[in-house]
Amino acid sequence: MLYKRSSELFVEANKVIPGGVNSPVRAFKGVGGTPIFAKEAKGAYLYDEDGNRLIDYINSWGPMILGHAYEPVVNAIIEKAKKGTSFGMPTELETQIAQLAVSMVPNIDKIRFVNSGTEACMSAIRLARGYTKRDKIIKFSGCYHGHSDSFLIAAGSGLSTFGVPNSPGVTEGTAKDTLLAAYNDIDNVRALFEANKNEIAAIIIEPVAGNMGCIPPVKGFLEALRVVCSENGALLIFDEVMTGFRLAKGGAQELYGVQADIVCFGKVIGGGLPVGAFAAREEIMNYLAPLGPVYQAGTLSGNPLAMAAGLEMLKALNADGDIFKRLDEKTAYLENGIRNVLIEEGVVFTINRVGSMISVHFDANPVYDFATAKNGDNDTFKKFFHGLLNRGIYIAPSAYETWFITDALTYEDLDFTIAKIKEVAKEL
Ligand code: PMP
Repeated sequence: MLYKRSSELFVEANKVIPGGVNSPVRAFKGVGGTPIFAKEAKGAYLYDEDGNRLIDYINSWGPMILGHAYEPVVNAIIEKAKKGTSFGMPTELETQIAQLAVSMVPNIDKIRFVNSGTEACMSAIRLARGYTKRDKIIKFSGCYHGHSDSFLIAAGSGLSTFGVPNSPGVTEGTAKDTLLAAYNDIDNVRALFEANKNEIAAIIIEPVAGNMGCIPPVKGFLEALRVVCSENGALLIFDEVMTGFRLAKGGAQELYGVQADIVCFGKVIGGGLPVGAFAAREEIMNYLAPLGPVYQAGTLSGNPLAMAAGLEMLKALNADGDIFKRLDEKTAYLENGIRNVLIEEGVVFTINRVGSMISVHFDANPVYDFATAKNGDNDTFKKFFHGLLNRGIYIAPSAYETWFITDALTYEDLDFTIAKIKEVAKEL
C-alpha cells in the first residue's frame, strides 16, 4: 500500500501543528512511520487520502461502536444543524439524553454533560473532593483518565506513596495529592488507606483498563475496592469513558455488578461528537453548581449537535437487545482466530479481552497491571502493526491501547483479518 499523500500531508501538518497531530498517539511515535490521514469512513472501513481502504479496529478510539457514519446519528446531526448549532441556553434535548442515560445505567440519578472524557474525569474528582472534603485521590499506574493535571502522574516504585509528575507543567503540589497503586493489587490500595487515614477522597479506576492494552480486573478486585471505599468514607469513581455503553447498557457497573459512586463517560455517549459526562446519585450531584458549592461549567456543554448525536446513539443501543451479546461474540470469534494463528506460527503472546475490548500483548506471561504490560515485546508489536497496516488493517499504533470492535464488522471482515494476521505472524 502507498501512503504518498499521507506523507505529504504530514509534512505540511508538522509546520503548523506540534508533531502534526492534535493528540499525540496519532503521530505513530510508538510504532514509527507516517500517520495515515483519513479522508472518510463508512461502517467498518476507513478510506485514507491515498485511496486505501482499511478495516478499522480503532473506531475513533471507541465511539463508533455501530460503525462510521451511522445513518441515524448523521441524520440527527444534519437536522439539528439546520436549526442552530449552539445556544448557550437549556434545550429539551439535554433532558431527553439525560433521561435515557440515567435509565440505562445503574445507580445514577443525575448526569452532567461536558465536552470530553478529560473534562468528565477532572470534574468528577473535583466533585469527590468537594463532597468528601478531602484532597487525596488514588489512581492506578497505567490507567489514563485524560490529561488534566491530577492524572498525569507516573508510577513510583513499589508501594509508592506520593506521585511525581510525569509531564512538565504538572506541579509537585498537585502530584502529591495523587497516590498510586498497582492495578489489581488490593493490598496496595489497603496500605494507602492505612497510611492516609481520612485523607482520601476517592479511588478512580478504569473498571476494565484499556490504556495499557486491555487489562481486565481480576475476580473480586472491583468488589474489594467498593468495600474499601465504603469502609473509609471515600468515593469509588468508575471511569467508564471506554467501557460505558460498550460492555453493557449499564457499562462495567452492570457487567460486574459493582456500584460506583461517580461514573465518567465519553466516547460512545457522544456518538462521535465531542461529549463527556459524569453522573452519580442525587445527593452527590446536587453538590454541583448551581445547586451546590462545587463549580463546573462549559460554554458548549450540552451542545445541540453533540446531544443529538449522543441521543441517537444511546437510543440505538437501548433498542437493540442483542447488541452487546453480538459484539461479545464477534470479538470472541476474532480472539479465537488470532489465538489459533499465532499458536500455529509459534508467536509468543497473551490476549486479554472483555466484551468488545481486546488486545494482543507480545509476552507469554499473564498481563494484569502496568508492570506486566510493559514486559511486552515492542519490536514485535511494531512489526505486527505495520504488517497489518500494509495489508489494510488498522489497529491502534501503540501496544498500550485496546482495540475497539464495531458491530459494523462482518464475519467476512473478521476472517480476512485473521488470515492477514497469519501472514504477518509468519514474518514475526
Ligand atoms: N478516560 C479514559 C478511560 C480514556 O480512555 C480517555 C481517552 N482515551 C479519557 C478518559 C480522556 O478522554 P478524552 O480523550 O475524551 O478527553
